[in-house]
Formats: sequence, C-alpha cells, structure tokens
Amino acid sequence: MSDNIFLKIVNKELPADIVYEDDIAIAFNDISPQAPTHILIIPKKEITKLTDSTSNDTELLGHLLFVAKKITDDLKIENYRVVINNGSEAGQTVFHLHLHVLAGRTFGWPPG
Ligand code: AMP
Repeated sequence: MSDNIFLKIVNKELPADIVYEDDIAIAFNDISPQAPTHILIIPKKEITKLTDSTSNDTELLGHLLFVAKKITDDLKIENYRVVINNGSEAGQTVFHLHLHVLAGRTFGWPPG
C-alpha cells in the first residue's frame, strides 16, 4: 500500500473533510488550517509535485485551477490566495501535488 496520505484520501482509506469531488480531483479542508478557509485541491492521479507533471497533464492542471475557482465561487469568496509548494525547500511536506486555497484573512507579500 502507498504511504502517500493524499492518495489514501483519494482512495477513501483515510478520512477527510471533503468539500468537492469529481472524476479528476478532490478537495478537502486542511487538517492544520493557516487561514479561516484553507482547502487543499489534489488530482486523483498520482503526481508527486508540479515539476513531475508533463505535457499530458496540461488539462488536469487547468482543471485543478478551475476547481479552485468553482469552490470559491460556491463559497462566495472573492479574495483568496492559491499556493503550490513545489519541493521541500519551498515548503512542500506532502509529496502529492496539491493547491492550497487560503482565504478569510489578509495575506502579506512577499510570502515567508
Ligand atoms: P505542503 O506543506 O504544501 O506539502 O502542504 C501539506 C498540507 O497538508 C499541510 O497544510 C498539512 O496541514 C496538510 N495535511 C497533512 N495531512 C493532512 C490530512 N490528513 N488531511 C488534511 N490535510 C492534511
């Protein structure tokens, strides 16, 4: 069995607070939220990080972003930040591609 915890969420082997799901992606609340709204959007396909995606994943990558738009539309959130941490030095701790959607507070720039 894979030790990829996000793949376990995809396969319903681990519980998660799922807010959206379709054939390509699944979204759930972050277990350790960094903002009042903190949702993770992941592909069901196993992709370790953005660097490891290929030109075959172009549609999938666009879909993940569209899911972010759809979820925030549904929640009537207009101000939000979408983040991808790619690689451990960029802050990635779970090695299955994911978008963070953060909202509900003011964010600084540049990010820490
Ligand atoms: P990153 O640091 O970009 O790899 O983000 C990983 C995120 O996954 C962190 O914000 C964690 O809080 C979150 N996380 C880890 N395990 C779980 C889980 N079982 N359910 C929901 N979120 C999780």
